[in-house]
Amino acid sequence: MLFTATGSDNGGQVHPSEWITVNDTGLYCQPADTYIDPMVPVAQAIITHGHADHARAGHQRVYATPTTIRIMTTRYGDDMAEQHYPLTYRESVSLGDPDDPVKLTFYPAGHIAGSAQALLEYRGGRIVISGDYKRRPDPTCEPFEVVPCDVFITEATFGLPVFRHPPIEREIQKLLHSLSVFPQRCHLVGTYALGKCQRVILALRDAGYHKPVYLHGALLKLCELYQTLGVSLGTLIPVSEVEDKQSLAGEVVLAPPSALADRWSRALPDPRTVMASGWMQIRARARQRQAELPLIISDHCDWPELLQTLREVDAPEVWVTHGREDALIYQASQMGYQAKALSLLRFDDEDEPA
Ligand SMILES: [Zn+2]
Ligand SMILES: [Zn+2]
Repeated sequence: MLFTATGSDNGGQVHPSEWITVNDTGLYCQPADTYIDPMVPVAQAIITHGHADHARAGHQRVYATPTTIRIMTTRYGDDMAEQHYPLTYRESVSLGDPDDPVKLTFYPAGHIAGSAQALLEYRGGRIVISGDYKRRPDPTCEPFEVVPCDVFITEATFGLPVFRHPPIEREIQKLLHSLSVFPQRCHLVGTYALGKCQRVILALRDAGYHKPVYLHGALLKLCELYQTLGVSLGTLIPVSEVEDKQSLAGEVVLAPPSALADRWSRALPDPRTVMASGWMQIRARARQRQAELPLIISDHCDWPELLQTLREVDAPEVWVTHGREDALIYQASQMGYQAKALSLLRFDDEDEPA
């Protein structure tokens, strides 16, 4: 157990369930009067990462990593919050009553650039809110860091034993193979604008693909931001700047998933629709996306990664949110942990319109 005597006047240890609760607005830390990833504007918010199902505009005060703040201002404008406080990984800040503070520290989550787990410490109790995370190597962000705690809040987007994400290299080879088999078809790849898009481009580069990659307008700003953050994506050309769209035969065009089936794609020469998402393991989802070539590429943990993480973090208590809770709760209790569902309604990253 990590509970230690705290020396506070009213008796020390307080279990996190007494100061972290869920209400209509979201996950709430009462002694800090702060919400974590709230969906509506609040006075004070901790934001784990820039995906729109976690980061919204309009809060008064925002605590986030410097990169998450840049992502938010890129998406929502410089006035996305009245005040924002950048906090780098492993640096701490005190929130709430200075005589009885809650300490906030961010640690890398390995999900997308800037993504963080938030460690909250109060009166000797430690809770880690992991936001979204994964354990696979991702050149666009620092790897997930194991942080000891009393309560670990985990996502369960792919929280079923059937979910096993193949290596990204293997999925990218499918795309390259398709380019060689269909050299006259434009390969239109649906990718989520933040994180997935840049990871797919980097994986193409790693596989030796050095031709320009063409981008739908909705992906430009965030790719530019990643380049400014030092992630070199190679030559990127906006599709809007290509006068003769027929010249895109045999080229790779990236677009938000919603663009795969809409009018925009009709200008492209004989597009072969490709979709990069963790959900592509489910055939019905691939059909629904009208993906001729589904690529299983995810920024979330698959089932083995979730279990590996529970084992490594080894928190006595696990709260499960954001997905398929039941299977993971059962599995966690089999592993000897106390587990419960934390009902937070969310969209899921990978289905979100860009
Ligand atoms: Zn996310
Ligand atoms: Zn999410």
